[in-house]
Amino acid sequence: MSRLWQFRRPIGRAPRGGFERRESIPPTLKRALKTAAWRDCGQRCVYCGVGMPLAEATLDHVHPMAHGGRSQPGNLVVACGPCNRLKGDLHPHEFFARRPDAAENFMRYARTVHRALKRNARRAVSLAWADAA
Ligand SMILES: [Zn+2]
Repeated sequence: MSRLWQFRRPIGRAPRGGFERRESIPPTLKRALKTAAWRDCGQRCVYCGVGMPLAEATLDHVHPMAHGGRSQPGNLVVACGPCNRLKGDLHPHEFFARRPDAAENFMRYARTVHRALKRNARRAVSLAWADAA
């Protein structure tokens, strides 16, 4: 099966639609988005709540780019390196189900994210509580 896939797509050529879906943002725009997100998130990691200087902040797509999340305000927060690595390409509901504490911090600190994403986090927290009970 996988051999057939390789056969159909010669090496060195982008898979159709593959690279276009992942938008590439110019570095200057990325820096501006990161600075804005860092300020909006109260200069802390939205998942563990620890304050950090801009240089240590990493830009995180709440809805991951790998799953079609966009590089737009409303989907961008800052996280510390360890939290960002932990979250990886997980869907927000998967990540929050594993880390309800992160979801609570997220609701508190990610002030400018889309309301749907916050609803997502709130839901994960109440499910986690229900599980614990
Ligand atoms: Zn963190």
